[in-house]
Amino acid sequence: MRLVLLGPPGAGKGTQAGLLAQHHGVPHIATGDIFRENVKGGTQLGRQAQAYMDRGDLVPDDVVNRMVADRLDRPDAAQGFLLDGYPRTVAQAEELDSILQARGAALDAVLRFVIDEADLVARIAARADEEGRADDSEEVHRNRLAVYREQTAPLEEYYAAKGLLRDVDAVGTVEEVTARAEAALVSARA
Ligand code: AMP
Repeated sequence: MRLVLLGPPGAGKGTQAGLLAQHHGVPHIATGDIFRENVKGGTQLGRQAQAYMDRGDLVPDDVVNRMVADRLDRPDAAQGFLLDGYPRTVAQAEELDSILQARGAALDAVLRFVIDEADLVARIAARADEEGRADDSEEVHRNRLAVYREQTAPLEEYYAAKGLLRDVDAVGTVEEVTARAEAALVSARA
């Protein structure tokens, strides 16, 4: 299964991504997690990404695309993967299409986690308390939402036009949302 998850920051995408990836036996590839590991490890990639992340801006497409292409070359991704946080721009989506095309592969579905902004702000405040993420301050989160609206939301159209987009109501318990996501996957593959 080759799957992309879309949704604004704070929609609970990461939690669902982990559960879905485990259930379907594919690697959970979260670009934000890879960047955070690199920042922590002080790598060159981490140094390239950190200023953008701290502001809640997107890391430049060429940096992200190269990183994802390398990750998808690893053997564990040969039979499938779940991408969480990538693509985030139409240019990234086009690059993903060409990476997959070159391997004779294609996406099975794109799940969009749907939640309104008032719920998001409340969730992010809770996550900032629990995890202490530097990019969860209110100001940075507001920027991350604006970036999502401006640069990532156009992907919804991009994937809808390909018949790949499935909506998942992201309001509810983790179990409820997982069940909806699984049902959306069944409908996508029918
Ligand atoms: P996330 O954990 O997915 O919210 O990502 C945290 C931060 O990493 C984002 O705010 C961006 O600065 C950066 N990032 C993660 N994925 C991407 C991507 N696909 N394109 C550009 N920047 C990204």
